[in-house]
Amino acid sequence: MPIFVSGLELWKWIDRAKVEAIASDVSLTELEWLLQELTSLDKLALRLESFKDLPKVELNLSLAEIAQLWERRLQERVPVQYLTGTTYWRDFSLKVTQAVLIPRPETELLIDLAVEALKPDRLNSKSNWVDLGTGSGAIAIGLASVLTNSTIYAVDFSAAALAVAQQNAENLGFGDRIKFDRGSWWEPLEFLKGQVSGMISNPPYIPSSTVLTLQPEVTKHEPHLALDGGGDGLDCIRHLAATAPDYLESGGIWLVEMMAGQAEAVVEILESHGSYCQVQIFADLAGIDRFALAYRR
Ligand code: GLN
Repeated sequence: MPIFVSGLELWKWIDRAKVEAIASDVSLTELEWLLQELTSLDKLALRLESFKDLPKVELNLSLAEIAQLWERRLQERVPVQYLTGTTYWRDFSLKVTQAVLIPRPETELLIDLAVEALKPDRLNSKSNWVDLGTGSGAIAIGLASVLTNSTIYAVDFSAAALAVAQQNAENLGFGDRIKFDRGSWWEPLEFLKGQVSGMISNPPYIPSSTVLTLQPEVTKHEPHLALDGGGDGLDCIRHLAATAPDYLESGGIWLVEMMAGQAEAVVEILESHGSYCQVQIFADLAGIDRFALAYRR
């Protein structure tokens, strides 16, 4: 049931909320984002405040409920994406809960790198791809959208995360080409040994001791299972480098995201295995070395 308030009443609330945002060091864009999701107003109407004179504005929640969410953003530092249950990544609107990491903009590039790593004649070929630690399913969905004849196997250790990923894939029409399995890394994918064209992952890569020192939005609200990469942050990347050669076909792609400062160590890990060739590092849009790519010999 929609709820209505007068434009003036809403405007007065927003005016106070803006002052609170500035005092709490929360971007005004987040307030706008919350309101776009929970009211019938678009960004332009919010910016121009053209709703102020409307006798009625439609809300999805009561103003008191919106105020409560805003309070959680300011006091508990809950990311706005968890408050609305939605985020935007590449071309997609994705459902998110606190069981999954909020997909980051830099991770969008993994999909472009995967496409560039493939020879053009293989883009439309039938192939098996694997997204290990899929979380919200973002990477699997991104891959399914560009590799139109591929089957994507998306694995996560968290059943709650898989439920979110599965719902996202179904909502976006990829339910038939993404297969979801619960388990640790390759564990549920024994049957794919030697048949994988590409493995792509945004694994946990933050050193354990750093996880508790990140901004409260991350440390207090995002799943540590998706962040904590052990002592030096590289435990999962080391595991993926060691295990992938059994699964990748010859020429298969190994592609992961990592943290600033890890590139040299990741190159060393890959080169120490002798199963990979053409090890390459790519920067994100901020110029930080963020992705490692290699091919199975
Ligand atoms: N990029 C995430 C962050 O900055 C970390 C994601 C990960 O560990 N894979 O919090």
